[in-house]
Amino acid sequence: FIARSSVAAVAGQLALKKVPLMRSPVPTMSGRDQHAEVIVVGSCNTDLMTYTSRLPSRGETITGSRFETHNGGKGANQAVMARRMGVGVAMVACLGDDWYGSDYVKSLCDDGIDCGSVRRDAGAATGVAQICVEEAGGSEGGGGGGNFIVIVPGANYLLSPEDVAAATNRLKDAKIIMCQSEVRPEATLAALERGRAAGMTTIFNPAPAQADLPDRYLELSDILCPNETELALLCKGDIDPEDDESVIAGARELLARGAKNVVVTLGSNGCMLVSSTSEGCQRFPADKVYATDTVGAGDAFLGSLGAYLARGMALEDAIGKAVRVASVTVTRAGAQPSYPQGGDLPPDLH
Ligand code: ADP
Repeated sequence: FIARSSVAAVAGQLALKKVPLMRSPVPTMSGRDQHAEVIVVGSCNTDLMTYTSRLPSRGETITGSRFETHNGGKGANQAVMARRMGVGVAMVACLGDDWYGSDYVKSLCDDGIDCGSVRRDAGAATGVAQICVEEAGGSEGGGGGGNFIVIVPGANYLLSPEDVAAATNRLKDAKIIMCQSEVRPEATLAALERGRAAGMTTIFNPAPAQADLPDRYLELSDILCPNETELALLCKGDIDPEDDESVIAGARELLARGAKNVVVTLGSNGCMLVSSTSEGCQRFPADKVYATDTVGAGDAFLGSLGAYLARGMALEDAIGKAVRVASVTVTRAGAQPSYPQGGDLPPDLH
C-alpha cells in the first residue's frame, strides 16, 4: 500500500485543489460513557516504520534515517473515522498485554471509542506491521519508493467468536456492525451472523483481498465494500478493474451470490453502488484533490459511511458524502492522523 501512496503522490502533482484541514480537540467523552451506534469488529496493528536511503539486502545491517510508530489496522482505522464523525463507536478487538497494546487502548479511548470489548490476551503480542520504506533521492543511489512489509497478526488472530458474541450481547442497541478480513475468519463470520440476527446493518469490507471467499459471507452482507483489486479476486469471472462494465458485471455476480448491496471503491474515481433492489448502477465521484497519501483512504470511506448510516441517512446519500470525506483524508499523510473531526469538514459533510 506504500507503493500505491507513492503513485498517488505523483498523481497529486496533477490534481487540482488542496483541502485545508484544521484540527479540533479530540472528543473528551471516555469510551464507555457513550452509547455505541457502530460496532467495529477487527484488527489493531502498530505500524513500525523505518525510513532508509535504500533497502537492506539479505543478512545486511544498514542505518536508517527515521523511525515512526503509527496506529493502524483496518478495523481500528474504520472505528476511529466513524467516531470522529461524531457517532458512538465500540471496538471489538484483541490486543497483547504488551506496551503496544496499552498504548493502543489509550489512543482508542482518547478518541472516545468504547473499549469495553477490547480484550488483552496474556502473553500475546499486539499485531504489528514492520514497514521499511526507501526514501526518494537517498544518498546511496536508492531510487526511492521501494518498501518491504512484514505483518505479524499476533493477538488479532486470538479474537474469537465468543469475544464477538459477548460484545454483540453487550451492545445490542447498535445499528451498524462493520468487519474486515484482518482477524480470523470465524470471528468475522460471527460478527456478520450476530449483527444480522440482532437486526443491525452489516457492512463487510473483504480486505485484504482474498479469493475463494465462501458465499455465506456475502449472504450476510447488507453492504459489501471491496476496492477494485478485492472485487477482481472475489469474482469467479475475469474482472478488468479499469473497465466500468466489467466492474458492474463483477458486482452483479456478488449480488447473485447473496450480497444485498455492493459498493466498489475506485480510488480517485470515487465509487460505484450496485444494488439488488434496482437495475443499473450509481456512480459517486470523489472530489478532485491534491492527493499526497492514499494510505487508509478505503478505511476512511467505510468509517464515515458507517457513521452516516448510523445517523439514519439513506444509503445513496451516505455513500455520496463518505466518498467526499475519504477524498479529504488523502490530502494528508498517514491513516488515522489524516482523519478529520467531523466538525472540521465542509458544512455539507457534517
Ligand atoms: P482502498 O484504500 O481500499 O484501496 P480506494 O483507493 O478505492 O480504497 O479509495 C477509497 C476512497 O478514497 C475513494 O472512493 C475516494 O473517495 C477516496 N480516494 C482515494 N484516492 C483518491 C484520490 N487520488 N483522489 C480523491 N479521492 C481519493
